[in-house]
Amino acid sequence: MIIKFKEGTQKKDIEILRSALMGMGFNIHESIGESITIFGVVGDTTKFDANSLYAYKFVDTVLRVQEPFKKVNRKFKPDDTIVDCSGVLVGGKNIVIMGGPCAVESEEQIDTITPLVKASGASVLRAGAYKPRTSPYSFQGIGPEGLAILKRASEKYHIPVVSELMSIEDLPAFLENVDIIQIGARNMQNFSLLKELGKTTKPILLKRGLANTIEEWLMSAEYIMAGGNPNVILCERGIRTFETSTRNTLDISAIPVIKKLSHLPIIIDPSHASGRWEYIESLSKAAIAAGADGLIIEVHPEPEKALSDGQQSLKPERFDELVKNCRRIALAIDRTLE
Ligand code: PEP
Ligand code: MN
Repeated sequence: MIIKFKEGTQKKDIEILRSALMGMGFNIHESIGESITIFGVVGDTTKFDANSLYAYKFVDTVLRVQEPFKKVNRKFKPDDTIVDCSGVLVGGKNIVIMGGPCAVESEEQIDTITPLVKASGASVLRAGAYKPRTSPYSFQGIGPEGLAILKRASEKYHIPVVSELMSIEDLPAFLENVDIIQIGARNMQNFSLLKELGKTTKPILLKRGLANTIEEWLMSAEYIMAGGNPNVILCERGIRTFETSTRNTLDISAIPVIKKLSHLPIIIDPSHASGRWEYIESLSKAAIAAGADGLIIEVHPEPEKALSDGQQSLKPERFDELVKNCRRIALAIDRTLE
């Protein structure tokens, strides 16, 4: 961390800050110019709020040179993390496909779609039992019955399931019924939820918030890891921009940025990113080419009749085609899609 004092700062003020920082265990490298003094602060600043230094009236600029996250940082763990999701490995050479409807609607719907997505190459079934909807009048999910349906499908078709947890009180039911707990975009900064997840060892699929920076997203992952759970998978699902042709804007750059900053696997959700089924294959191929470790895609047996997100849900046959085409991209960059 670098601190620049305002021009003309008194020696006694510089000493006040020096002893405060040294009292916190930092070492100071001082550089005294003709009118400006600079401190180079050395030590672990992860637990220190650099902005708090602006409370000193003689501090001009504070520059952080160390990232505020530690456990998710690639500098802390250079090798890629591979998350074992009930036998499906996310983060290795293989690209993992998660597919299924936006929401669990009925036993029949899940019983129809599960063998189809599995046959096409999905190794994880996705479906929400609890749905975060903008309108309180929209379909909210079928709750506990949805989790039971997912559990039965998982056992019948031998496929792990991922589903979104919205509130802490449902955590025990999720620990029992699902293989991966999804934290949706709207809950990315629900810190009490993240702390509880840190106490488990369940794989967590942490979606990026609608308008959150990559650093904020990694800090949320840090909450889970700091609590003791190393099994975090990041999911980019599009961010809010000025563009209105798509539901959100898929931030493809997040893939190389995350790969540089963190050892955690990153998957892409082209369904919520684009909001239109026509764009999903193109974004999926781009994501794989850019280095994503997997995709999570909405697939519905009859999108026209879906209770949520039908407009961005693929029909099973289109999903099948998409996986085939994505496999060709994967092979071209020396990865596999099995
Ligand atoms: C979902 O995956 O069903 C979902 C609601 O996603 P997001 O949190 O990314 O909007
Ligand atoms: Mn959805």
